[in-house]
Amino acid sequence: MNGKTVMACIDAACAALRENMDEIALLDQQIGDGDHIFNLLRGMEALRSLRAEIEAAAPGAALELAAAKVLSTVGGSSGPLFYSLLSGMAKAVPAQAADVAGFVRIYAAGVDAVGLRGKTGVGSKTMMDVLIPVARRGEELAAAGASARAVLEELPRVAEQGMLATRDMVATKGRASFLGERSRGHLDPGARSSQLMIKAVCEWLARPADGKE
Ligand code: ADP
Ligand code: MG
Repeated sequence: MNGKTVMACIDAACAALRENMDEIALLDQQIGDGDHIFNLLRGMEALRSLRAEIEAAAPGAALELAAAKVLSTVGGSSGPLFYSLLSGMAKAVPAQAADVAGFVRIYAAGVDAVGLRGKTGVGSKTMMDVLIPVARRGEELAAAGASARAVLEELPRVAEQGMLATRDMVATKGRASFLGERSRGHLDPGARSSQLMIKAVCEWLARPADGKE
């Protein structure tokens, strides 16, 4: 992993958000204020304007640069939450090996930081319903010695299950919680955007090295 890998993951996540922009906008119109996808795309554009710096940096520094940019450009609740994810990951980089177990631990440290910031776990109809199951399953697979390929194939499925599970939940955190029972029956926009980004990043990482630009 290096700064170029970090930037390539950002590009993959950005493309997935763009492709699904209308759907995510609609989800946040249904149970939020409609700004979620625009908050995220603004952040993605800002990250792409930092391409040279991110690509030239070591992985921890690249994630730290990205985190600071996200904090200053992504609004809403999700700005500080994604800042926490990236900066939590950045802080964990030096302690971890550059293998799949190390990568999973770095991601899980980021998810822990989001939990501290947003003060919630699974079941409150937020992005945490995707982020946490992916972290826990990733840790289990890594502990069982699973290959990188197996981990990258399974985690997008875990993310999708977590995202779909938000449909039947009543929101107890964030703006959607103001709707109470009326939030039931809709997917959470943050869960959908997180799931799409996780899928895109896993797919990019799983591509053979010679298939990457
Ligand atoms: P806002 O709700 O302030 O308009 P966004 O639209 O950018 O912010 O983000 C909304 C998303 O943020 C929700 O769909 C949900 O997934 C996530 N979210 C809200 N509150 C929390 C929280 N406390 N912890 C984790 N995620 C949260
Ligand atoms: Mg919103």
